[in-house]
Amino acid sequence: MDTGSGLFDRAYSESVIDYYDFNTDNIHWNCISGGSEMMVQAVVARINKESIILNQKVVSLSSDADGVHVGVVNTQDNLRTDPVFKDVICTLPLGPLRNVDTSQLNLDIYQRTGFRCLAYDISVKVGLAFTSRWWEKAPWNVLGGSDSTDLPSRTIVYPSNGIGDTGRAFIIASYTWSQDALRFGSMTHDERVEQTITDMEIIFKERAKAAGVPYNNDVREHLINEECYSHAWQNDKWIQGAFALYGPGQFSTYYGPSIKAVCDGRLHFAGEALSENHAWVNGSIISAYRSVGEILDRRGDTERKALLERLWGDDSFAKEE
Ligand SMILES: Cc1cc2nc3c(=O)[nH]c(=O)nc-3n(C[C@H](O)[C@H](O)[C@H](O)COP(=O)(O)OP(=O)(O)OC[C@H]3O[C@@H](n4cnc5c(N)ncnc54)[C@H](O)[C@@H]3O)c2cc1C
Repeated sequence: MDTGSGLFDRAYSESVIDYYDFNTDNIHWNCISGGSEMMVQAVVARINKESIILNQKVVSLSSDADGVHVGVVNTQDNLRTDPVFKDVICTLPLGPLRNVDTSQLNLDIYQRTGFRCLAYDISVKVGLAFTSRWWEKAPWNVLGGSDSTDLPSRTIVYPSNGIGDTGRAFIIASYTWSQDALRFGSMTHDERVEQTITDMEIIFKERAKAAGVPYNNDVREHLINEECYSHAWQNDKWIQGAFALYGPGQFSTYYGPSIKAVCDGRLHFAGEALSENHAWVNGSIISAYRSVGEILDRRGDTERKALLERLWGDDSFAKEE
């Protein structure tokens, strides 16, 4: 709760779930070689590529006897089409879903309100680019891990992979959430980078003082200014927040109604924000499992349901109170 300033106003249950994400016995972390994009590429490799249509912005959802109509606008030529599908799983984040015309769906008041008010946290990352991994060398000897500070940039995450590599390298030199991200997100890119450099210099000057060594301007000396990046997820129109972090009472009041399939069980709502494991890819997987299971149940496809359970486990965990 103290990783971001002012996070104490969120649901207590979120803090408990978050705690167990990091503090469960026998926890084992894996690193995906090549980055998380590899995960997407692995999924794409299993799907018929012809069936993936890119650059389509969903603008409306409705249904009739033919199925679920998904109104889409091609983001390249602005042409609108309304393809119809037997089953649809909508995984839009709740911010962009707000801009989709759902008025023909006759959603009940709890589901509509859930989509509108289930709370998101916000987040900003600033990545500083350097000519080398100078922080891993003496006298600093920082080999992975993170620094937490009450300076504006709050959290520095040092790469824990590729330790000892030569050549250019990046540090997530500022990772902020909640009120800290609100303030950082309001700054320009150049201001964010400059603030992050300033904060990092303060931290390394303190390190130098504690070690009784001079600070030799390492941060600025190794910096590649034009390759530094920053991203404020709350300003990103495709997500409009970072990840769900429900407020008090929202799990009990809005979560159940919000994940209900509509249009005679043919339109499902999924994605990280409509799962119990917010801010993790695991949340989107849990919600995908739920939606696929519901579609197979509706179709009476016991064979594929059995396959789903064999490959991914049964859903008894979801039924436990
Ligand atoms: C800063 C940050 C750090 C994170 N760190 C981690 C981590 O370390 N580990 C981890 O497991 N998870 C992490 N997560 C969470 C993880 O990224 C999400 O849980 C996951 O990506 C959610 O997947 P999703 O498919 O539900 O939504 P998304 O990945 O957000 O996908 C939704 C898609 O819908 C698209 N979209 C939006 N509007 C429309 C529209 N109108 N029409 C068509 N498409 C639309 C978007 O472009 C996007 O591609 C992090 C998230 C953030 C923001």
